[in-house]
Amino acid sequence: MLTLETAATAAYVVAALLFVLSLAGLSRHETSRAGISFGIVGMAIALVATIALAINHQIEPLGLGLLFGAMAIGAAIGLWRARVVEMTGMPELIALLHSFVGLAAVLVGWNGYLHIEAHPDGPDAIAMSEQGMLGIHSAEVFIGVFIGAVTFTGSIVANLKLSARMKSAPLMLPGKNILNLGSLVAFAALTVWFVIDPSLWLLVAVTVLALLLGWHLVASIGGGDMPVVVSMLNSYSGWAAAAAGFLLGNNLLIVTGALVGSSGAYLSYIMCKAMNRSFISVIAGGFGIEAGPADDKDYGEHREITAESAAELLSSASSVIITPGYGMAVAQAQYGVADLTRKLRERGVDVRFGIHPVAGRLPGHMNVLLAEAKVPYDIVLEMDEINDDFDATSVVLVIGANDTVNPAASEDPSSPIAGMPVLTVWNAQNVIVFKRSMASGYAGVQNPLFFRENTQMLFGDAKDRVDAINAAL
Ligand code: NDP
Repeated sequence: MLTLETAATAAYVVAALLFVLSLAGLSRHETSRAGISFGIVGMAIALVATIALAINHQIEPLGLGLLFGAMAIGAAIGLWRARVVEMTGMPELIALLHSFVGLAAVLVGWNGYLHIEAHPDGPDAIAMSEQGMLGIHSAEVFIGVFIGAVTFTGSIVANLKLSARMKSAPLMLPGKNILNLGSLVAFAALTVWFVIDPSLWLLVAVTVLALLLGWHLVASIGGGDMPVVVSMLNSYSGWAAAAAGFLLGNNLLIVTGALVGSSGAYLSYIMCKAMNRSFISVIAGGFGIEAGPADDKDYGEHREITAESAAELLSSASSVIITPGYGMAVAQAQYGVADLTRKLRERGVDVRFGIHPVAGRLPGHMNVLLAEAKVPYDIVLEMDEINDDFDATSVVLVIGANDTVNPAASEDPSSPIAGMPVLTVWNAQNVIVFKRSMASGYAGVQNPLFFRENTQMLFGDAKDRVDAINAAL
């Protein structure tokens, strides 16, 4: 006979499959819209099934009122934030959303303790104990609270760093690796203790320990590694959700959490490879990275160029590569850049784009902006596809990019971004850098490119400068 429980289980299986299809769809540009649709439908099915189960179990009007009230408030805030967020503010919004998953896991864990372990003589605790499940429940509570609290404060620090409300330079506490390792050892010991003898003070202790560890882990990571951190926190939030799923006995939450956890971990791994960073070093909060000496090097003089001279240089060029970065997003210069591309191509200039994997503030940031401005997709190339072509290029336009075109990454082993693959723009005959000042980029590192003989600076807002070149052309 079809009961509500079996129907809900079937709905959960369908939702889980839709989530897998969603991830598969999102992995390619052409199928990403379908991927998003699968995800939305899966989540709608999951919500309806969960609400139906809740109504079935919980007939009290107060509980239902709280459920629907919380959903309405959450949905209203979510819709409002998603509508007003700028593309450049996306990573910090995502980081903030991860913190909610972490907080939810902490609350679910505490709730589990207050229902079961806090009443050892209650019927639920006695029933669990007779089935030999009490220890497993205690371990789930403890581990769930730990992962959730690390995710919570870690995500808040990531949000503050990404929105520039906190310095992006890594925090360098003395003995920071010992602090991290010591916290993990303490967590393991406390877990064993809690499973043997659950008590409130142990739960308070692990919550405080994990909140501090989450804060310290992400604060110790420098700006250049933030993309990896955001994707790693995504992974942590998945594991926190899976832990909550075990406690709530909800299979869909376990499956979804595991999907988010493993795909986030894999994405972090791929990004680490792309940036030549050690995966272990980044997830261990900058393990092995020490503060470099202060940069007081004399880089020499830089040269400036006007928009009119830049237009002349471009008119006589045979090939141009544009390497956009975060500044193009800030200035919203992509429409002007698309215009410039069209004008130059009409004059027979070969124009292509070189996209660094971490240009901007989230993976695929530049691709989204250029697609929005209708730049043809076949001239937008990845770093690896274009890096050998700079030698044979007349002019490179660096539009609001900085760290991703920094020669120090490949030439100066003492640089904080040493080893990160970069676009080798300096090999071109002429480089024009669009930015407003000589300020450093996200990683806070000076860029020797600006002082090279073949580089000229075009100062000002990127949109204004591109428009001025378009006018001169
Ligand atoms: P950077 O952040 O290194 O530099 C951006 C440059 O744009 C700055 O030097 C700034 O100079 C300039 N700029 C800002 N506003 C304007 C404007 N209105 N007009 C003209 N120029 C402007 O950019 P990149 O894209 O090269 O590098 C991305 C960095 O962000 C990397 O360090 C990466 O690790 C990090 N990151 C990447 C994420 C991702 O997933 N892609 C996520 C989080 C961080 P000025 O102020 O002088 O104008």
